[in-house]
Amino acid sequence: MSCRGRDELRGFEERDHGVFAAKLMEHLAVAAFVIDRSSRVLIWNKALERLTGVPAGEMIGRTDYWRAFYAEQRPCLVDLLLAGDFSRAGDLYEAWSDPDVNPGGLCAENWCLMPRAGRKCYLAFDVGPIFDESGDVIAVVETLRDLTAHKRMEAELEDLAGRDALTSIANRRTFDNRLGEEWRRCRRMAQPLSLLAIDVDYFKQYNDAYGHLQGDECLKRVAGCLQGEALRGGDLAARLGGEEFSIILPQTPNSGALAVAERIRKSLRAARLMHGSSPISQYVTVSIGVVTTTDESAVMELNELVAMADAALYCAKRRGRDCVVSFSEDCCDADRLYLSR
Ligand code: GH3
Ligand code: MG
Ligand code: MG
Repeated sequence: MSCRGRDELRGFEERDHGVFAAKLMEHLAVAAFVIDRSSRVLIWNKALERLTGVPAGEMIGRTDYWRAFYAEQRPCLVDLLLAGDFSRAGDLYEAWSDPDVNPGGLCAENWCLMPRAGRKCYLAFDVGPIFDESGDVIAVVETLRDLTAHKRMEAELEDLAGRDALTSIANRRTFDNRLGEEWRRCRRMAQPLSLLAIDVDYFKQYNDAYGHLQGDECLKRVAGCLQGEALRGGDLAARLGGEEFSIILPQTPNSGALAVAERIRKSLRAARLMHGSSPISQYVTVSIGVVTTTDESAVMELNELVAMADAALYCAKRRGRDCVVSFSEDCCDADRLYLSR
């Protein structure tokens, strides 16, 4: 180290360490603020000014720091730590870590409206107590990290993972999850739940006649018809694989499900997708099996419901295709016949 450097260091050591600590905090790249035991802001650093758009001059000495993050009054993580009451953390934050896992401190994550900055941010908060020599808490420091970009990317990936790559409608993973949820909900609320099993007719012939690429285009058009025709907010259309699709219709009685199925069949016919090698129509058609569970059928298992929708679909195939069949006991015989053909 040069003589000049040593002199500067000596000079620094003689300075007031308290002032230096405050400067260090103020210029830290990580956004942070410190409150005293009465919840008054002692430090509001420059990185936090940039993040929230609220200057330190407006915050020092105040207790309403929640304004920088939220539109309505609510506790911040520093408040929970100061009060030693983490019971509300689960209600207040999207994610948070148990203080037993992170002794003395607390971590949480949340979407914040950031009224002054005028942009919604997903922030990660870490809070920790500052003790005096006798071990009493004299202040609490909260640091904040902006995870918005990361969170948005995570949501996009999650969305992509739940979609079918060809048609962009829900895939089997999303279908299975939703069906499980709706199944439990309909049991709990004693409400009907309907399921449609949909299969493109003579699709092998379609591929043979028009080629696989055109077959893919056809599947996209079929998926478009399902999305367009069926659906209310809570319904879900999914491609289960190949030329097989399914639709979950929560809180829908059998009559409603049959109406949806019929609309789908007609809208596909109206789309007039040429299928020159189909023995039953000059256009692409679908067969649809419908099943509905009601409280009277409470003994049924979820996989039975799926099997019944399939049986009804096979029944529709047996009846000549391009039709809708609602599950009945007759379908079980049709199912056996179809599978053994
Ligand atoms: P059915 O009326 O009894 O349903 O007859 P089908 O010909 O539609 O049924 P089958 O199960 O014999 O044939 C399904 C065809 O779907 C065979 C397969 O090549 C085709 N297929 C499956 N997945 C895709 C895909 O992603 N793209 C294309 N183009 N074709 C696919
Ligand atoms: Mg088919
Ligand atoms: Mg099939």
